[in-house]
Amino acid sequence: MSQLLKAIKTILGIAVSKPMTFSFPPDMPLTELHRGRQLYKPDLCKGCKICSMVCPNNAILMVEREKSEENKTGLQPQIDFRKCCFCGLCVDNCPTGALSFTNFPILLTMKPETLNYTPEMLAIPPTLEHPEAPKIKNTVSWARSRSIWIINYMTGCCFIEAVPWVASSFDMERFGLIAVGSPRHADAMIVGGYVTPKTLKRIIRIYSLMPQPKWVISLGNCPMTGGTYWDSYNTIKDISKYIPVDIWIAGCPPRPEPIGVAVVHAIQAIQGGYIGKEEKTNTDAGKMKLPTYSILEADSGQAQMDFVFGSQHSASGNFNMSLTLDGETVVDATPNPGYLHRGFEKLMEYRTWLQNIMLVPRICVLDGASYELAYSGVSEKLAGIEVPLRGQYLRVIQAELSRIQSHQMNLGFGGAATGFDTNERIIWGDRDQVLLLLEELTGARIYHIFNTIGGVRRDIQPDFPTKTNQLISYLRKRLQIYDDLFFHNKTFIDRTQGLGVLTQETAIANDVTGPNLRATDVDFDIRTATPYEAYKDIGVKVVTASKGDAYHRFLCRRQEIEESLNIIERALDQLPSGPVCTTKTPEDKKITWRLKIPQGEAFHCIEAGRGELCFHAISTGENTPYRVKVRGPTFGTILVMFPKLLHGVKIADVPVVYWSLDQCPADHDR
Ligand code: SF4
Ligand code: SF4
Ligand code: SF4
Repeated sequence: MSQLLKAIKTILGIAVSKPMTFSFPPDMPLTELHRGRQLYKPDLCKGCKICSMVCPNNAILMVEREKSEENKTGLQPQIDFRKCCFCGLCVDNCPTGALSFTNFPILLTMKPETLNYTPEMLAIPPTLEHPEAPKIKNTVSWARSRSIWIINYMTGCCFIEAVPWVASSFDMERFGLIAVGSPRHADAMIVGGYVTPKTLKRIIRIYSLMPQPKWVISLGNCPMTGGTYWDSYNTIKDISKYIPVDIWIAGCPPRPEPIGVAVVHAIQAIQGGYIGKEEKTNTDAGKMKLPTYSILEADSGQAQMDFVFGSQHSASGNFNMSLTLDGETVVDATPNPGYLHRGFEKLMEYRTWLQNIMLVPRICVLDGASYELAYSGVSEKLAGIEVPLRGQYLRVIQAELSRIQSHQMNLGFGGAATGFDTNERIIWGDRDQVLLLLEELTGARIYHIFNTIGGVRRDIQPDFPTKTNQLISYLRKRLQIYDDLFFHNKTFIDRTQGLGVLTQETAIANDVTGPNLRATDVDFDIRTATPYEAYKDIGVKVVTASKGDAYHRFLCRRQEIEESLNIIERALDQLPSGPVCTTKTPEDKKITWRLKIPQGEAFHCIEAGRGELCFHAISTGENTPYRVKVRGPTFGTILVMFPKLLHGVKIADVPVVYWSLDQCPADHDR
């Protein structure tokens, strides 16, 4: 009887629930204060060039226009959206309000040069225009246009914003967009973000393996111009020099909506008979050199095979490892990082202390908020700047929302690795709700650039507490569903319990931190060990588990979501009034984008989603750091611990162990 009641309750619940999927287009859930494409008011511009000087990405060029009474120089800004990362420094520093943000996120084209906006183009408010659908050329074109099988090449952080298109939130399979893992099945490839010379070889190889006709979508600014890493030695600056590209999506990262719009454009072009550009590749960047495969004769008694795990695999992200297998059992594992190396610490020496806040979240896209928090903390320590209490509380709220979405991302990968794609799609749909709230708070879904030296960039909107409390109660209910999907699910239990066991001693000896350490029953968390920001006032209950296996690592993250919700609730209840940012240094100097920090060195650690994250910075009294060293949480875990944990593990369980450790190649490659 109770089973029957439960079933009736479930059916009624589904009947009255809102659909999870955003309707798309035209009802994109755009946040009012999202930092989308800029709007320019020529009447207010004085031609002072500040916007151009402050831009860390060299995206603004001052161009000559007719002089006016206000603008005595005749210089006006032209913004290249192939380079802009929407950090907002130009808008914040424009003294007249001539530049502002709209919340329009869609910038895509088949001709990349059209993304360089003249002042006249910038002055026109943006609108979403769909090209008129061409006539269907023939049955084959129509059929082809309705079933585009896509292979994603996860080259950089952009890819993380491509993830929602498979989630329940955007669900772009509605448009016939199917993600596949094999190039021989793919019609289209999305090059998802930053490309290194090492990655380029793989991209060319995958493109060559795809059957004709084939299409390429370039996602984000990095494959167009190098984007934020325009001055990194390891950047491939224009992917079209190596393979033909059909559609370019600008942004850093682009929101998921432009991917959907790009696909609508592709569908229309293909139904009209477009069969992609002529196939060609340029291997100037180097010949493909993959590890060799060797299968010994089975009757030799030592049937072993070298096996490549990643870097293009849904189970690995852009991480590569060589495995030696005996039958299905791993006998040796050697990590081979470098597919995402950008040289952050060197790049930071060429940007001002404040401009670096735009750069650092990109060290780990999965939890960028923690990186801006840790970097701001070390800069403030050096400069002796105190953050007002309200600013500290808002930083905690941002950090905990980021921890939640990071753990949801990880649980989703855990679902996919154990064969439960549905779990992944459900939990990533919930994650989108958290990203929307983060966008309400900060102006951006992924790279918030909410922190600044001295506090946070803006206060909350009046309805933020209500929206947050609604999300908290929604997620508390959803946690029970996560329990059914994962932790009470017999198959998930069988696939994860007793797998990849990390003992307390090994974890401590190998510098493992965060939930991976706490899952071995070590009660260590920087938020309580050396509290920073407002954590001491708000309080944190440290979550631990006892077995140190894959199951308990995932479980720790699930429990931490619950604790983060409690922390956010308390932070909102206790939120003090007052300013959110200090504007002066102890020497009474105004904090600007050219702030000089007194000579000295400082070290600052925080508890990021993946564990202990530390910044060590040295100043020689200039407006740029002399040296910055980052200690990320995944270096020891993935490059040192993970290969050791794989000895004796079956090949099918390799991705399970990998995701249970919550990797972030961007963090350990840096
Ligand atoms: S938003 Fe940032 S990157 Fe874009 S133009 Fe302005 S300063 Fe440059
Ligand atoms: S847009 Fe603003 S910052 Fe840029 S030149 Fe004009 S007034 Fe100066
Ligand atoms: S830096 Fe920006 S454009 Fe480049 S990969 Fe990351 S999100 Fe994409």
